[in-house]
Amino acid sequence: MVQSLKIEIERSTAKKEKPPQDQLGFGIHFTDHMFIIDYAEDKGWHQPRIVPYQPIVLDPAAKVFHYGQTIFEGLKAYRTENGRILLFRPRKNIQRLNRSNERLSVPQLEEGIALDALQQLITVDEDWIPTEPGTSLYIRPFVIATQPALGVSPSTHYQFIIIMSPVGAYYTEGVNPVKIFVESEYVRAVTGGVGEAKTAGNYAAGLKAQEGAKDKGYSQVLWLDGVHRKYIEEVGSMNVFFKINGTVHTPALNGSILAGITRDSIIQLLKHWNIPVEERIISIEELYEAGKNGSLEEAFGTGTAAVISPIGELNWRAEKLVIRDGQTGELSRKLYETLTGIQTGTIPDPFDWMVEV
Ligand code: PMP
Repeated sequence: MVQSLKIEIERSTAKKEKPPQDQLGFGIHFTDHMFIIDYAEDKGWHQPRIVPYQPIVLDPAAKVFHYGQTIFEGLKAYRTENGRILLFRPRKNIQRLNRSNERLSVPQLEEGIALDALQQLITVDEDWIPTEPGTSLYIRPFVIATQPALGVSPSTHYQFIIIMSPVGAYYTEGVNPVKIFVESEYVRAVTGGVGEAKTAGNYAAGLKAQEGAKDKGYSQVLWLDGVHRKYIEEVGSMNVFFKINGTVHTPALNGSILAGITRDSIIQLLKHWNIPVEERIISIEELYEAGKNGSLEEAFGTGTAAVISPIGELNWRAEKLVIRDGQTGELSRKLYETLTGIQTGTIPDPFDWMVEV
């Protein structure tokens, strides 16, 4: 257990009814409690508390509404077969939150305090962790700038809040490949901007392209770099990997790509299995070339929500590239089974990734 934080707990008197585990969806239902801690320039982070889940009241001039000074994170807790509660690499999320904070001029949160808050909130709402295969408790920590002032400058006041949502199995009929539209008009981020921070504006900026892809019958977009519209960055809100001629390639972190925790875990797993893995610049032309000459063996996205999402087809400038006949590859399947096995405690965790609550 980390440094213990004295968190005031106000328990909910009206417990909500829990939804059936086969109808959870993603981020629709919320648990009975939430965590809040305030920040003021003269006091630092103070008054940590767990309170019944409820609306937050903010001044309409709060800076978060106007200048988007806000950060979020996403991680999951799992209930193992023998009833333990496991978190997947939570410190990594807190460290990334602090990197995002740094980029958005938000004060740093102490890692021990954030981890303690997570652990205590999960303990209070532990009966919300679903148990059916593939389900989990999705945790959404976020920071908002609350100072009511319209001048463009870093806020003097913030709140760090954690809410939690039981989520359903991402794949109900096995891991299925998706069709991806390669976006040539809009870009998600540029180096020097905020692409490597997990901040709201990046997601708002991506909606237009996502809608366009959906209208054309694709699940998501493949983002290209903002300068040349040529180098592969991410797929939807996932990192992306390609197996070409036995080596696994993923775009190198260049300042406009979010450093995914699943991405890092996949790289570690591949190295552990002695499968060659390279982080480098990958152009869309090179990928299409590999697809055409038969050396592109598998393609998949990685992220907390789906863990692994195989890519069965790309469409770039109206040219379609079908990957592996649209079927899930062996490596994608093995990575999915290993990572979800470690997360749910059904297979050993050689990396010490899991943190028990
Ligand atoms: N890229 C973006 C833009 C994301 O929002 C996410 C989800 N956090 C990822 C990649 C994957 O990151 P992770 O593996 O940490 O979920």
